[in-house]
Amino acid sequence: MDQGLRLVVRAAEYAARAHARHRRKDVDQTPYINHLAHVARLLAEVGCDAELVAAGYLHDTIEDVRVTYEELLAEFGQDIADLVLAVTDDKSLRWQLRKQAQIDHAAGSPPRVVALKLADKVSNLYSIRDTPPHGWDTAEIRKYIDWAHEVVSRLPEGNAELLAQYEGIRAELLAGIGGS
Ligand code: ZN
Repeated sequence: MDQGLRLVVRAAEYAARAHARHRRKDVDQTPYINHLAHVARLLAEVGCDAELVAAGYLHDTIEDVRVTYEELLAEFGQDIADLVLAVTDDKSLRWQLRKQAQIDHAAGSPPRVVALKLADKVSNLYSIRDTPPHGWDTAEIRKYIDWAHEVVSRLPEGNAELLAQYEGIRAELLAGIGGS
């Protein structure tokens, strides 16, 4: 069997186990794996390599479910462990500082990290459209869209297709809440 396919399937299973009890904060408490599968699919559909697609499945394991960098290193090797680390927020920082750190670090992102960050933001914006977080009003949605844009607008050129998808869903959301 193709090595890349095996890798992606292993990452999908690992993510499903690691996030087994993890839900999104929408009314339906959507299983978190849906977000991870969406990010992986977005990366695969624009022709990203298998390691990057696998990292799509794994990208929130360190940040959200206490998998360590060393565990990812042992299981998937340095390339994937480094990709995941590059999109992991420092949870020792308060929320505001964490969000600022994403803005500050955006410009230094290598192309594959740019693709991963874009796919993550695209997926999050789709989630806000389709299954908004419980209790979010228009102002809260607007705040998220504006913050995401601060990050994305500082990213170096990466994947034009993912950027176009981001612009599309952003425009749609802004139109939906009456902004621009
Ligand atoms: Zn994510």
